[in-house]
Amino acid sequence: MCPDDQHDGGEDEKAGEKVKRLFEFECPLCSANNPYDDGFGAGDEVRCYYCGSEFRCSIDDMTGKPKYREH
Ligand SMILES: [Zn+2]
Repeated sequence: MCPDDQHDGGEDEKAGEKVKRLFEFECPLCSANNPYDDGFGAGDEVRCYYCGSEFRCSIDDMTGKPKYREH
């Protein structure tokens, strides 16, 4: 046991938004996998390099998974 080494072990309980960065997305239209080296997050727009469609990313509150809405 090493008490100094461990902060409280609980999950973060930050109030408010949690910022999640993603570094790839799967196109809902053509299922192409698009790597994003710069990363993106909820509210950002992403573009499928394969079919050229653009989407706005959001994070589903229930599942925590990213969703993409065509725009
Ligand atoms: Zn696509």
